Order: sequence, then structure tokens, then C-alpha cells
Amino acid sequence: MTADARTIERARHAMLAAIIEEVAETADWTGFAALSPRVLAALDAVPRHRFVPEGEQRWAYENRPLPIGQGQTISQPYIVAAMTELAAIGPEDRVLEVGTGCGYQAAVLAELAARVHTVECLPRLAATARERLQALGYGAVEVHQGDGSQGWPAAAPYDAILVTAAAESRVPPALIEQLAPGGRLVIPVGNRARAGLEGGLALFELGPEQELRLLVKDAEGRVEDRSVLPVAFVPLVETGPRAAKA
Ligand code: SAH
Repeated sequence: MTADARTIERARHAMLAAIIEEVAETADWTGFAALSPRVLAALDAVPRHRFVPEGEQRWAYENRPLPIGQGQTISQPYIVAAMTELAAIGPEDRVLEVGTGCGYQAAVLAELAARVHTVECLPRLAATARERLQALGYGAVEVHQGDGSQGWPAAAPYDAILVTAAAESRVPPALIEQLAPGGRLVIPVGNRARAGLEGGLALFELGPEQELRLLVKDAEGRVEDRSVLPVAFVPLVETGPRAAKA
């Protein structure tokens, strides 16, 4: 192992330690005090420094969001971990992510699931994430460009759906429709993030303006919905046919 590789591995282990600590601190909110071994292994496996712009690489393993261009951010590692844990992904699962960004969360999901579809509305981010995921060998991920507030009907239903941008006032109905029986949907909902703070960040000390929600569809198609954590995300842009009526 080269000195560089050792430095990166040390940084990643420090990131995992910070995540583990924050998971324990937020147990009253989330309902879990530890991550499952599969989620930890997935976070340990993904080279986060390959997903951030070159100028940001030295911060890649800090437990905070980072800019990825086009006014967007890669979420705080703790939030990626918490959302992934809530999604309870099994090895056979088909997963949808809305808001590809740089592709990091999609890579974490690909470590856990059989297939990942991820939708990004900004063409340039979608193209870069597609190339990056391919170069890193994440063949299980398909990157689509479009309005993910409409889900991705062509590959539905999904065992889990993660949305990494905040829906303004309600969970987009298309996402609930595309959830398989037993499926989990993890999504931030709420008006606005506090100015300057958005970026897939947990705000458990500041109180809610947006909340992370977990919806679970049972075998009969009934949906249970609970609020998990106050958060700050960039907005989910809704441009699809239903947005006008909402
Ligand atoms: N999960 C990402 C971070 C996402 S930031 C990562 O790991 O890097 C939120 C992303 O959602 C941004 O890239 C933004 O362009 C995208 N987005 C916002 N509204 C969207 C929509 N309706 N459909 C698809 N992507 C959307």
C-alpha cells in the first residue's frame, strides 16, 4: 500500500468513527443507535475522494457536505449513512435514488443492492456521475437524466427509494406509487433549508424546517409515515406534468 493509499484509508476510518459517534448521539431521533455491519462495510468500500472536485479532495472524508458544482452538494457522510440505514437495503433489492449529484450515495447503494437506478435533473451532473461510476466499476448503477420527482417508472417497482433533495410540501405521489409492497421511501420534506446551510446536513440541534421522513408500504399497499430527523437539503425541483397541478 502506498503512503497516499494509507492516508486515504486513515481518513476514511476517521470518517467512519465520526459517523458512528453521530449515529449513537441521534438514536432518540432515528430509532437506531448503531449502523448495521453491511452499511458500515459499504461506507468503508466507497472511495469518497473520487466523487468530489479536485479542490475539495482534502476534505472528502470530513463529516460534512461539500460543493460539487452547479450549486449542488454531496451530502454529509452521516446523512448518507442514516438514510441508507433507514432504507434497510437487502442484497436482492432494486433501488431508486432521486438526485444523483456526484454519484456517491448511488455508489454506497450499489455496494448493498442488486440494482440501482438514479435520476439527476442537471444534464452535466448526470453525465459526470455516469462516467465516474463506470470508471469506478459500479456497473449495477444506471444513471438517468430527468425529473426524478416523477420517479423512474420504466424500472419500477423499487424495494427502496432515497430522495436526496427536499420536496417542498408533500411526498411526490409517483414515488409512493413506485414503491413495491414492503418498500421503504426515505425523503426530506419541507419548505426551505436555512440560508447557507443546505447540503444534506443533519440539524438535530437546531430544530426542524425540513424533516427527513421514512415511509413504509405494507403488503396490502398501506403506507406508514414517520418523521425521523430535522435536516437541510437543496430543493427537489419539480418540472414534471404533475408539478403544475400540485
Ligand atoms: N445524492 C447526491 C447529492 C445530491 S444533491 C450525492 O451523493 O452526491 C441533490 C441533487 O438533486 C442535485 O444534484 C440536484 O440537481 C438534484 N435534483 C434536484 N431536483 C431533482 C429532480 N426533480 N430530479 C432529479 N434530480 C434532482
